[in-house]
Amino acid sequence: MNQVVLIPGDGIGPEITAAVLKILDAAGAQVDWVKAEAGMTAFENSGNPLPEETLAKIREHRIVLKGPLTTPVGSGFRSINVSLRQEFNLFSNIRPARSLPGIDTPFKDVDLVLFRENTQGLYSGIERWANEDHTRAESIALITREASENIIGAAFDYATKHKRKKVTLVHKANILKLSTGLFLKVGNEIAQQYPDIEYEDLIVDNMAMQMVMNPSRFDVVVTTNLFGDILSDLASGLVGGLGLTGSANIGREHAMFEAVHGSAPDIAGQGKANPTALLFSAILMLEHIGQNDVGARINDAIMKVLADKDACTADLGGKSSTGAYGDAVIAAMS
Ligand code: NAD
Repeated sequence: MNQVVLIPGDGIGPEITAAVLKILDAAGAQVDWVKAEAGMTAFENSGNPLPEETLAKIREHRIVLKGPLTTPVGSGFRSINVSLRQEFNLFSNIRPARSLPGIDTPFKDVDLVLFRENTQGLYSGIERWANEDHTRAESIALITREASENIIGAAFDYATKHKRKKVTLVHKANILKLSTGLFLKVGNEIAQQYPDIEYEDLIVDNMAMQMVMNPSRFDVVVTTNLFGDILSDLASGLVGGLGLTGSANIGREHAMFEAVHGSAPDIAGQGKANPTALLFSAILMLEHIGQNDVGARINDAIMKVLADKDACTADLGGKSSTGAYGDAVIAAMS
């Protein structure tokens, strides 16, 4: 039995988490859940959006399944998602996006896995007012060789392990010559250690166009934090939206699995939310802890349910509530 810290999260978090736990249980997942709080829920309950008790549980158990957390815009506390990634050095953010049965999009045969550097770039938290009247603000895009080696190495290792053919490195080294220039330089060096994997680099604006013009040409993609944030949402859009994409945040010792979407306050508490993204994240977690067969069983069931539009939630044009969709996935397993 693996012990996994469970943070249901804010907004739609508790609803989609309940559906996911029921499905994992029905599939026979051997997981002992250790419940913890973070985000707005924790802030309202204890005055601290990231309580020490939660950090201690993550330190001890090392694996986390997390619902979305609300971040106040403009002022208030810093993003707890970013804090968790930095606190546990979860340097790889891995976001698979693939075409799904029954999901009607203009894009066919998408099957890419995006690796986003998760701790640096413009998310380093190095920001300051550059003058006293606050009319000039500066944010530093920190890039180090070590973090670049970590994420690019992880992308190539993943490509090797999963028999992927190509790695595309995305940068803006024509303008940000030092920071993303360093990222590109490290990529060029690491690529030479993997002669069996095709390697290319693309400038981020070109990448955005190519992903829309011809997304099936991409296989494994690796990039810096901000570009990865934007391109991974673009990738989600190619395959049907944020309700359908899971993600893994992996470091050397700790790993956190979460949906790509946010806490969707506009539909929270209405039983409408789509739990598929968190479910795909839970499948990534099951693979990480060696319960691949359980993950595969759930994955096959999701494919069957998605093919039946009526069984899907409203964001996919269906009629099901969160709970009814979850029950359909369970029924499709038997
Ligand atoms: P959002 O992803 O919460 O919502 C965007 C749109 O997508 C909304 O219309 C919402 O209803 C819909 N949507 C999202 N998830 C859905 C689901 N599972 N099923 C059906 N529809 C879904 O983005 P936002 O509104 O920009 O952000 C809301 C809050 O979430 C903010 O506080 C933001 O900081 C936070 N956020 C958290 C994470 C995270 O925890 N990893 C990621 C992104 C945003």
